[in-house]
Amino acid sequence: MTNPQVKCSVDNCEYWEEGNNCSAEVIMIEIDRHAGASLPQQKGGQQYDTSHTDHAEDTRDTCCHTFEERGH
Ligand code: SF4
Repeated sequence: MTNPQVKCSVDNCEYWEEGNNCSAEVIMIEIDRHAGASLPQQKGGQQYDTSHTDHAEDTRDTCCHTFEERGH
């Protein structure tokens, strides 16, 4: 399986690079309600979860859980 190129406009994220490119080894998308959740797996310091699932009504309900503010 080939991973998609991730384009992201959040330029204050540690993993953001010029051209709106995400450099994270793995990114985890969550529903907003779980944005602060602690996830059970890690790769390159980035948390993710391969088992639990959620349901979003539309794009406004989703967020990037991997976001890390630059400089923190
Ligand atoms: S980790 Fe998430 S917020 Fe950060 S650059 Fe990648 S997609 Fe954007």
